[in-house]
Amino acid sequence: MTPLDPLAARIGDIPLITQEKAVRAKSRDFFWYSPVLKSRLDDVTAEAVVAPRSEAEVVTVLAACHDLDIPVTPRGGGTGNYGQAMPLAGGVVLDMARMTRILELRPGRVVTEAGALMGDIDTAARAELGEELRLHPSTRETATIAGFVAGGSGGVGSIRWGMLAEPGNILRLRIATMESTPRLIDLTGEEIAQVHHAYGVTGVITEVEMPLAPAPDWVEMLIAWPGWTDALAAGHRIACAEGLWLKQLAAVEAPAPHAYFLRHRKFLDAGDNLLCLMVAPNSADALAGLAAGMGGTMRYRSDTAPQDARAGLPHLHHLAWNHTTLRALKTDPEITYLQMGYPEGREIETCAEIARRYPDEIVNHVEFTRSGGRVRFGSLPMVRFTTEARLVALMLELEAMGCPIWNPHAHTLEEGNHRDADPAQIALKKANDPKGLLNPGKMIGWEDPGYRYDPRGGYAYAATGRAV
Ligand code: FAD
Repeated sequence: MTPLDPLAARIGDIPLITQEKAVRAKSRDFFWYSPVLKSRLDDVTAEAVVAPRSEAEVVTVLAACHDLDIPVTPRGGGTGNYGQAMPLAGGVVLDMARMTRILELRPGRVVTEAGALMGDIDTAARAELGEELRLHPSTRETATIAGFVAGGSGGVGSIRWGMLAEPGNILRLRIATMESTPRLIDLTGEEIAQVHHAYGVTGVITEVEMPLAPAPDWVEMLIAWPGWTDALAAGHRIACAEGLWLKQLAAVEAPAPHAYFLRHRKFLDAGDNLLCLMVAPNSADALAGLAAGMGGTMRYRSDTAPQDARAGLPHLHHLAWNHTTLRALKTDPEITYLQMGYPEGREIETCAEIARRYPDEIVNHVEFTRSGGRVRFGSLPMVRFTTEARLVALMLELEAMGCPIWNPHAHTLEEGNHRDADPAQIALKKANDPKGLLNPGKMIGWEDPGYRYDPRGGYAYAATGRAV
């Protein structure tokens, strides 16, 4: 008798995978993006993968695991890059990838099962309604909608709609609790906040309702400036132009575009500081004119480029957000990255100062987003990694310059989100997961309710002693 036999007996014909290689593959996500997480979490693996095909099967699995004291780590597409979906305490990976049904599509909204891929949702919504999800991560084709809600934060579309946390960007979540008799709870409004970006520690999402937006045939543009600060200022001016219907706007400092955007390289010069944009066709000419007036050179425009020049190019969203980092990593394995902000009102000068201070260590990458009625500069700078100690020192230096860091080299909610233990979230977890079996090790507050955010990191999960 193995420890998994009682589980197998309880869950009947729900797929249970125990083959070591398959379990190990489903126990990993994009944690290796971080050299720090890579060195710490490489050997993490579950005992088994369970792959429910319906909400009822999720409930059966959670009830069984609760009664048998088996930790459960939910998993969507496994594209999270902080080890969020890695089973630190072993147990079971709950693979939601078979729950892909689109349950309802009507103007302005879509209801899907948790494991639907965002690319598939967009394809269906476009075909049926001429609409699409407001936001998607740059991993749209491989990431699930519930994985985005539970593990992501924003992305393509955030220049128009803000980050996922903005009220109205998630309409309803249904979660299953981790109890002997799991409850199914529909969350709306402010209740959503404790499940969004909570890595599944407060409940397993089974169903998601999201708002849709009109889906024009987005025009992709790459516009270059010789100076980094000029490109950044132009990006800010474009982001603030209310009449332009934008979907995506990023600024990437030289030499990254020419060095890393290999399939677009034929359009670029080595010194190009680039704006990467997606814009509605009815705004494309106005945008091109505005950029030209600010000294920008149009390097690529998808609606006017000849067919043969466009052949084989990746979507523009595959140059943005964390795909910028991925392109850098593929060319230069010593590159890692940070997630940070700038002091409000001093964004451009601070970013210019960073470029001056760290010419050999940082290449800047800014994603423009909108929140609270303002354009924001979200920064995902590429960083040349030397040692973990230097990376921590760099984060402290940047924090001292007034730049908040959302540390992507930590697997905990608190360190990643730059915050103290959250009593409301702890209370919800106590109610929904009283034994603490959902995704253990990701919530410092569960083990240390008095925890206060420390940018030096180093939190050690009690069950494994894993410090990051
Ligand atoms: P997973 O990685 O499988 O899971 C993410 C988290 O959600 C885990 O903690 C997991 O336990 C939990 N989870 C999964 N399913 C459920 C469920 N049903 N119920 C409860 N919890 C669940 N993120 C962004 O926000 N924006 C970006 O633009 C972006 N770009 C990226 C680019 C690259 C190249 C990479 C590698 C990552 C990027 N990410 C980005 C991170 C990640 O791709 C997204 O957040 C993605 O949406 C995660 O979806 P997933 O299905 O892969 O989730």
